This record gives sequence, C-alpha cells and structure tokens, in this order.
Amino acid sequence: MEEKDRLQKITKPLVTWYQKEGRILPWREGKDPYHIWISEIMLQQTRIEAVKEYYKRFIKELPTIQDLANIEEEKLLKLWEGLGYYNRARNLKKAAQMIEEKYQGKMPKSAKELLNLPGIGEYTAGAISSIAYDEKVPAVDGNVLRVVNRIIASKKDVLESETKKEITQKLTEIMPKEAGDFNEGLMELGELICLPKGKPFCEKCPLQNYCLAREKGLTEEIPVRIQKTKRKREEKTVLVLIDKGKIAIQKRAETGLLARMYEFPTIEKQLTIKQVKEQLKDWNIQAKSITKLGTHHHIFSHREWDMVGFQIECEKVNESEWIWAEREKLEEIYPIPGPYAPFKKKIQLT
Ligand code: SF4
Repeated sequence: MEEKDRLQKITKPLVTWYQKEGRILPWREGKDPYHIWISEIMLQQTRIEAVKEYYKRFIKELPTIQDLANIEEEKLLKLWEGLGYYNRARNLKKAAQMIEEKYQGKMPKSAKELLNLPGIGEYTAGAISSIAYDEKVPAVDGNVLRVVNRIIASKKDVLESETKKEITQKLTEIMPKEAGDFNEGLMELGELICLPKGKPFCEKCPLQNYCLAREKGLTEEIPVRIQKTKRKREEKTVLVLIDKGKIAIQKRAETGLLARMYEFPTIEKQLTIKQVKEQLKDWNIQAKSITKLGTHHHIFSHREWDMVGFQIECEKVNESEWIWAEREKLEEIYPIPGPYAPFKKKIQLT
C-alpha cells in the first residue's frame, strides 16, 4: 500500500475513535481558542494530569485575553510557578497584548496569522486553528511523530527537523474535514495507546489494521531518536540564609535562563560545609547553625544542574544586597523557579 493511501485510510477510524473515546478535559469543553491556546502552552512542558489544576487556576484568575494582557508580570509568573519555562508565560502576555492591539481582542483564526504571535510555533498554531476552527492544518508534536512514523514504519530520526517537515507535509495532504478531531485523535492515541517506551497497546489500537510497524514487528524500534548533543552539566550550591525568620533571595538577571525570577543566593560550584563556612565569612555573616538540605538534580533542555543546598541560621548579618522575605511572601509574591523548589520545601523556620 502506498504511504499516502495508508495515511488516508487512518483518518476515518481515528476520528471515530477519538469522538467516542477521547477524554473529557477542561480545555476541550466549548472549543474556545483562548482555552486551547493556554492548555497547549502548558502541555508543552507538563503531563495532562498535572496541567488540569494549573489550567483551572489560570483560567479562573484570567478568564479573558484582556485579563491576560493586563496582568502584572510578577503575578503572572506566580500563577505559572511550578510549570517552568517562564518565558512561555511572558510570551503569553505579549501575545495577548498583540491580540488586543492588532486583532481587536479576538484570537486570529488561521494558523498563518497565529504564527505571528510570540510563543506560538507551528505545532501550537496548527492545534489552535484545527481544534477551534477545523482548519485543515496538521499539529505535529512528539506524540504525533511517533504514531505516524510507526504507521508508515519510517526509521527516520524524529529529532531531525527534516523528519518533522516531511511528516507535516504528508499529513497536510490527507487532512480530513474534521481536522481538529483528527489532530487530537493522533495526540490522544500517542498519549494513551501508542506509547513511547515499552510495548504500545496495539491490540487496543483503532489503527492496528493499517500500521506497518505492527505488521513488520518494528514497534519497539520506531521512533528512531539519535541524540547528538550532550547537555552541559553545571554545579550549584544553594544557600538558604535565614535571619530573624526572614529568608534571603535575589532576582536573577534580566535575560537568559529563568530570567527575572527569584532564587536563593547561589554559588556556581558544589561546596562542602567547610567551604560554606568560608563563604559566609567572606560575606561577613556569622552563622548559628548550618544544616544540609540535600541534593537535587535538575534537567533543562540544554543543561543539567547538580545542586546541593544548605539552610543557614544567621546570628548576625551585616550589609547585604539581598531581599529578606517572609516565608509567605515566597508563596505569594516572589516566584521561585522549579530547580529551587525542593530546597524551599525543606526550609524549617524556628
Ligand atoms: S498499531 Fe501499535 S504501533 Fe501502530 S499505531 Fe497502533 S499502537 Fe501504535
């Protein structure tokens, strides 16, 4: 069977399966493009189950695009705390402001126009326009790449942009009129049945009769992923300094990773207790006690942090450039990003 015929043949069973079996999720009610947009950005970095609560809280706080365009940045980052990749939240606000100014407060309908908005790439543009308006454009993410490469038994490297381009082209040629259900069906199948690791549940798959990887026994070999670049590893020591019940924090740089977020004072290597004491001496701080808060390994897309944390009860702090915040303020005002969360959790105030 030709590849195109094979893909053409999956459209009907997939749409029927999705309409019957697709999960009921908060952002799927009503097909509101604003809701789809927010959920898709959240889903880029977090699993569906975890996104549900963040999504509900976000929409409750910011029910309209206008609310998003007008929210203060720190409140927005606080609302986004726990989801990571804070630039995505900033881009949401920028895009909302652009929608207000250029599109009279209404989300543009076509994928082509959506691509002009900050933070909206091809996948998100396709997802919004197809789900909300049934525009016949594909939305190719990792799940979709896996499913389609298995259907056609392609061993091309899914980490290569060329592979994604080819799959997008192939799907464009066979998009049915129920474009939204088709795209969501592919994503849902990838989430629930055509799983990445271990064996996919082919016996439950509505596409099993059309799947070449299943026919050839290649489901465990496909998708092919050739990892070329190694992540850069960095060491950090996180010092949670406490003085009269207040905790020292500082704002990160204006640009770069975790820009403008707050962190505990951090040293760019792993220190022993002896070295921590020397560091405190350099800062002119007398410590009552030093307690190890354990270690944490944090993985970003291009780097990894090996972190160790210490809680320090200060006896005396001379001049300092840090912000001294009450514990509640760390929850309410100052967004502390994910890599620091395990240490924040372990803080013990006396
Ligand atoms: S038959 Fe198996 S490998 Fe093929 S699409 Fe379905 S679950 Fe994936």
